[in-house]
Parts: sequence; structure tokens; C-alpha cells
Amino acid sequence: MTAPDTDLAPDLAAVFDHIDRQRDAFVAQLTEYLRHPSISAQNIGIREVSALLVRRLSDLGFAAEAVSTDGHPMVMARGPEVPDRPTVLLYGHYDVQPPEPLEAWVTPPFEPTIRDGRIWARGAGDNKGQHLAQILALESHLAVHGTLPCNVIVLLEGEEEVGSPHIAAFARHHAERLRADLVVTADGPQHPSGRPIVTFGVRGMAGFELRARTARSDAHSGNYGGVMPNALWTLVHLLATMKRPDGTIAIEGLADPVIPPTEAERAAAAALPLDLDRFLADTGMDRLDAPQDRPFYDRTMFHPTLTINGLHGGYGGPGSKTVLPAEAVAKCDIRLVEAMTPDQALDCVEAHVAKHAPEVEVVRMGGMLPSKTPLDDRFAGPVRAAVARGMGVEPLIYPVVGGSLPDYVFTKILGVPAYVTPYANADEANHAPNENMELRLFHNGIRTGAALLWELGRMRVGAA
Ligand SMILES: [Zn+2]
Repeated sequence: MTAPDTDLAPDLAAVFDHIDRQRDAFVAQLTEYLRHPSISAQNIGIREVSALLVRRLSDLGFAAEAVSTDGHPMVMARGPEVPDRPTVLLYGHYDVQPPEPLEAWVTPPFEPTIRDGRIWARGAGDNKGQHLAQILALESHLAVHGTLPCNVIVLLEGEEEVGSPHIAAFARHHAERLRADLVVTADGPQHPSGRPIVTFGVRGMAGFELRARTARSDAHSGNYGGVMPNALWTLVHLLATMKRPDGTIAIEGLADPVIPPTEAERAAAAALPLDLDRFLADTGMDRLDAPQDRPFYDRTMFHPTLTINGLHGGYGGPGSKTVLPAEAVAKCDIRLVEAMTPDQALDCVEAHVAKHAPEVEVVRMGGMLPSKTPLDDRFAGPVRAAVARGMGVEPLIYPVVGGSLPDYVFTKILGVPAYVTPYANADEANHAPNENMELRLFHNGIRTGAALLWELGRMRVGAA
């Protein structure tokens, strides 16, 4: 069900009117913001942009500062106190990916250009256009009403694009100052159909390497063949004990902690649009991976995976080389679902290897916890309603997405529900040349942010 503007309460309608009137001015602000590079991997522009954000948020009346970490600073800001109303933590990241290869850009990455109803620049969608929309939503409420409907903490990270190495420690250290009732992140693309999305969870990840060595050095496959054990065969046999041909994972205990999805989560997954024939044609697959009897979205949402990322050893160059490999390496990852943990998963891998191929070394490569917010969390309704009001169409509900983001920092360290409401178009080309954001979605993103604040302002905290 859509929420036409005519249904709007007058106080939110006035904010939407302001956002409409400021449309061009807001695009000008986005253009100006995108001119500033802030490339975390290359340490370019980070200090300048974090300082610029502190000024921007201070001008709104927020208590804002750039808080140093062992890496790039976190911009943290708190709005004026609104008694008895919820506190929302709006998370985003001000760093961007490196723009290379520069020659692939139609217009330069830090000279924002508008064409075809889109703004083209590095950071347009990932993530400056999206968190600026949130900031402009705050500004619009303040411009119209002089106050905010709820309490707001803005947290903008400066090293998301290099894997958020310090956000967990930061959240532990500043848990008191980050105390909120929910976290909302505007990042990522909407559905390719153009429908908006609300995401409630992410899978986690654990990485490891298997290393086999069978002799001091590679040898002649004729002179030593039949005498010297082959390191690649050692890994091939070991790997074959870890996953069965029917697709099920055979590592003992790995899936023990898995919490099966609720009926509501299953139903939400089953309700997502899917054109399987088109998916197969677009990707060039002739079938889905085993097991066959699994619904499409269940595969990425509710089940762990075991993936061989690469298997290396011996000779892979042109022509032939009759070599007998003395060493081999398999790089692997496991995607984790609630309530698996990287430590638990890697302990199971180690125990499995100790049993089946004790001569193989397991190297733990670390990982990330999964995260899931219940579909019936008390803020789910307001978040969904805000997206529907702002975007003009009901969002698709993703109980979990297949990839891994550090949402556990919010759900497990801060202990609050976490939602992701992407504002960018599906073809935003984030991390790639010619990154862009549809101006229509930037505008609707500001509306969504404004509607979120308004929805939260109708709620009381304290009453459980
Ligand atoms: Zn990114």
C-alpha cells in the first residue's frame, strides 16, 4: 500500500513541501560535497572532509566532533534533546573508494556532473549522497519547525571502504555516548525493479587457508611419481570430506548454532520478486548450486556456505610441466548465519582437519559476526512506513542479505535493532568508474529521512 502525500499529517507535509522547494539548492549542496575527495585507502582528504562534516553538523545545532581512532576519525554528533522520544543513530561513511581507473570515467570522479537525471561522481551513492540526504532531512525539520521530532545521533565513519577496522573497538569504548534505541543506515542500492528495500540482517563471514606440504620441493612426476605424496591431492581429498556432492556441508558441528528462520522471515523471503529464468540467463548459469530443494532466497539468507576461493600449487602456466607439487594452498570462506560465530566455525574446521588430514595446517584469517534484527521489532513498522512515505512505494523486506557488513557492532555490541534503508539506484556503480545517483532518489531519500524522524517522533520511550 502506498502512502500518498494527501494522507500526510500537516507537520510532515510542511517538511516535504520545504524539501520540494529546496530541491535545486540541495542538489547544489550535494555537488559541492562531492567535490571533496576522501579516499580512505590512500589517506586523501580524510581530515578535510571530517572537519567539513563537523562544521556542517555544528551549524545545525548538533554537538559535533571528529573523534580520533587508531585509524581515520569518526564524526559523531548529537542533536538537541527531545524528552520521552526515541533516539535514532544514523550511520553512514564519509570515505570513498579510490577512483581508479581514471580513464574509464566519462567525467572526472571529483568534478560532479549532472546528466540523464543523475549526478556522476565518486561517492555519489556510496555513501555521500545517502548520508547527506539524512543530514538534509534533519536540516529540513529544523528549518520548518525549529525542532526535531526525536533524538538523533549521527555517526559517520571514515574507513568503511577499508573494512571498518576500528568501528567495533570504537563502539565498545563509546557505548554510553552511542546509546540509542535503533540504528538506521542509508547505504547500498535499491532493488533492480526500482522498489526500495528495508534490510534487517546480514550474513557473517569466517576465512581460512589450508596449507599442505609433502616434501622439501616440487619434484619430477616420473622419477618421484608413486613415491612422493602430492600436496594438491592431499588438499583435494581433504576438501572433498568437507562438502558432499549433494551440496550439504560435512564439517561436524559447524551448523549446530544455526537458528532456523521464523515463519515471518520465510514468508518475507518467499514474497521477494524473482525471475529465475532471467537470473540464469543474465548470469550464464544453467542451474543453481546444490542442494536443489532450497528456495532461492533461503540460500543466501538462512544457510551457511563453504566456498573454495582458490586452490593453488604446482604449475598453471602455458604448455605442460610434469611436476609433482610439494606444497598447495586452498583459500576458503564460510558465510555465517545467526547464531554462528567466526571462532566457532574455525574451531570446527580445525577439528575436522585434525581428524581427516592432521598434516594439513589451518590458518585462521578472521571474520565477522552475522547480525539480524527481528521482523517484529517495534521499530520495524515505523521504518517501513517512513520508506513507503518517502519513496512513494512499499519497500521489499529482506530479513537477511547474503553479504557481510559490520551490523553486529550495532546489534551485538550496542545491543539495538539495526535497519538498512538504501537510497541509491541499483546501477549506482559504487566502487566502479562512473558512480552515480539518480537525483529523484536523492530527493526521495531526503523525504524518507524526514519521514523516519517524524514516525519516530510519534513513539514514546520508557514505556516498554
Ligand atoms: Zn562502498
